[in-house]
Amino acid sequence: MLTLYNTLSRKKEVFRPLKKKKVGLYTCGPTVYFYAHVGNMRTFLFEDILKRVLEYNNYKVKHVMNITDVGHLTSDADTGEDKMEKGAKREKKTVWEIADFYTKAFKKDLKRLNIKEPNIWIKASDTIKEQIALIEKLEKKGFTYKILDGVYFDSSKLKTYGRLWGEKERKLRAGARVKMVAGKKNPTDFALWKFTPRGEKRQMEWDSPWGKGFPGWHTECVVMGIKELGIPLDIHCGGIDHISIHHPNEIAQAEAAYNKKLANYWLHGEFLVLKKARMGKSKGNIIILDKLIEKGFNPLAYRYLALNAHYRSKLTFSLEAVSGAQNSLENLHHKILEIKTTSKKPTRFSRKAKTYQERFLKAINNDLDMPRALVVMWALIKDQAIENNEKYHTLIDFDKVFGLGLNKVKEIKIPQKVKELVKQREKYRKNKDWKKADEIRSEIKKLGYLVEDIEKGFKIKKA
Ligand code: AMP
Ligand code: ZN
Repeated sequence: MLTLYNTLSRKKEVFRPLKKKKVGLYTCGPTVYFYAHVGNMRTFLFEDILKRVLEYNNYKVKHVMNITDVGHLTSDADTGEDKMEKGAKREKKTVWEIADFYTKAFKKDLKRLNIKEPNIWIKASDTIKEQIALIEKLEKKGFTYKILDGVYFDSSKLKTYGRLWGEKERKLRAGARVKMVAGKKNPTDFALWKFTPRGEKRQMEWDSPWGKGFPGWHTECVVMGIKELGIPLDIHCGGIDHISIHHPNEIAQAEAAYNKKLANYWLHGEFLVLKKARMGKSKGNIIILDKLIEKGFNPLAYRYLALNAHYRSKLTFSLEAVSGAQNSLENLHHKILEIKTTSKKPTRFSRKAKTYQERFLKAINNDLDMPRALVVMWALIKDQAIENNEKYHTLIDFDKVFGLGLNKVKEIKIPQKVKELVKQREKYRKNKDWKKADEIRSEIKKLGYLVEDIEKGFKIKKA
């Protein structure tokens, strides 16, 4: 039985999809005006784990992720610049080039983190027609008004507005000093369609019944989700920041237009923080995956780090934390090589092995408790009473969820020349000739290998 914490009810609920054994999953995708940072990637990792856990429970998942390439403004209060146009100005490129470049970079990051690609990618700029149709529907039903700056959703017309909000969001919204767009009737109203400012020419703009402009970010997501998955969706996810504005606004449009719930389950991932501050592109304190790789980290070490915290807890990022995760990952790879067998997966597992499999399933099905699942994995590795072949195949099975590439761990073949140099270096080290030892280490590095001194000797790695 799979239970998931639903932000709508603020409770763990037993997961029941609309169609037997099939799940429609919509996850808010990146705004492609810059590289995704490791905070963003934490949210995408949590969603990947969710998808893998659903698949582990034999659900067929249809996963849709959007690419926001227009309409996401620098401020959530419908003011500020379009992030994409801003990015294009910064890099002196067209918006389309920026979108293309950062979409590719994002997909590369997904691959390096072993995040499964969605079944369907959908771009906001490819669904303008459908977005205009939704706004027309809302207009007919009396939920919109037009001001100088655009067409807005009148949140006072929808009794249920603010679904998803808990006490925290209610207080936040009540106390927020919203920079109001002139003419906006209520602070919670939001733009459905923004006009191109008079005298300006945007790179991305379209004709509409109301005037030339571009869609609002909250309209994009609701349209793309419903287009691909129908209404209601089974699960809708995103980062925790979306609980207060983006997701309530998606819900409001769906309820106003269709009198239906947009999604049955809403899951939100907590933030990656930097010593209490949030990591954010607009805050200028971001770290991207490329930087971690440059510093010699395996991207999967970051995945391991993310697995080690529950998705609803804050995770504090530091290089030391990634380094610790990398050690654990290397240790895990080492153990896998020790127990790896060439025998086939057993047709029946011993009772003892089965208890680990049951404990693992219980952990992942308890609202994706990955830290607990890792504890079960390490306990299994250390259990001498379990025979290696059973152990190996159980771990490979667990890795369908962890996604740490355990089935691909290979002994690295060290060339003879490197082996000889390592031997020589050991001799110098024994004689405490550190200078010579370091020289040889550099020579080894030139051949593409790294020697690391550890407690019981040394480790050789590919550079
Ligand atoms: P964006 O590209 O800004 O639209 O963000 C993509 C996803 O990353 C969204 O689901 C955000 O909620 C999420 N996100 C943004 N900052 C963080 C952070 N510091 N930690 C975790 N998730 C984040
Ligand atoms: Zn969204």
